[in-house]
Amino acid sequence: MNEEQLKYCKELAKKIRIHCLKMVCAGKSGHIGSMLSTADIYPVLYTSILNVDPKAPKKDDRDRFILSKGHGGAALLACLAELGYFPLEWLGRYYCDDGKLSGHISHHIPGVEFSTGSLGHGLPVACGMAMAAKQAGKKHRIFVMSSDGDLNEGSSWEAIMLAGQHHWDNVIMLVDYNRLQALGKSEDIIDLEPLIPKLEMFGWRAIEANGHDIEAVEATLKQVPLEAGKPTAIIFRTVKGKGVSFMENDYKWHYGGLTEELRDKAIREIEDAYAKEVAK
Ligand SMILES: [Mg+2]
Repeated sequence: MNEEQLKYCKELAKKIRIHCLKMVCAGKSGHIGSMLSTADIYPVLYTSILNVDPKAPKKDDRDRFILSKGHGGAALLACLAELGYFPLEWLGRYYCDDGKLSGHISHHIPGVEFSTGSLGHGLPVACGMAMAAKQAGKKHRIFVMSSDGDLNEGSSWEAIMLAGQHHWDNVIMLVDYNRLQALGKSEDIIDLEPLIPKLEMFGWRAIEANGHDIEAVEATLKQVPLEAGKPTAIIFRTVKGKGVSFMENDYKWHYGGLTEELRDKAIREIEDAYAKEVAK
């Protein structure tokens, strides 16, 4: 990634975070902590990794991206809007009765492959798409974003077993591993550790990376071989609520509304941090 691309990705991540804060405030609800922890991954995915085209969101050979943690979908929606999949104005009516964007994501929105929200659905669907692509001799890949809570679901592990057994190397799972979920610390609810050896035992390649270091995110995604012979999992270490001091690492910001005062305070923090970053 050159300097210009890096700058663009950092700016896009900032915009995604600010959109999310405005969306949750306007919609009076949303999963803000889960949105903020993924905001540095989407810019890399959509500008450097996925074979996708905002002008042709249904082109046959596109890579598929499925957000299994659909409750945090506002961050994906903000990214898609910034890239031109649909008008930015739609973001202003997120979670509103007269708006187009629901609290969980819907495949009726351009660029969204599959409606999700209930956890444990993304990986099984990704496996179906992977099998179909293999049988048809197609080369596109299926990326799916999972999370702590999503990997607590039995259906996720059924899909992990299936993809491992059949060597579906066209499946790439990204885990937003912030170690928190709706009601507390993941280690206190259903501990996923040791996650990497567990995935390896299920027949996957598993690697980890800092999910907030844009260059590391890109380098890790780029090193996934096109024909790895087995599915790949990338465990992105992230921070729930990343970028907003009073939200970071606090599961109480998993879900809820946001006052205008707190929204503005959070936006100031994000803008200040971005200004410092670009001044380096
Ligand atoms: Mg989590």
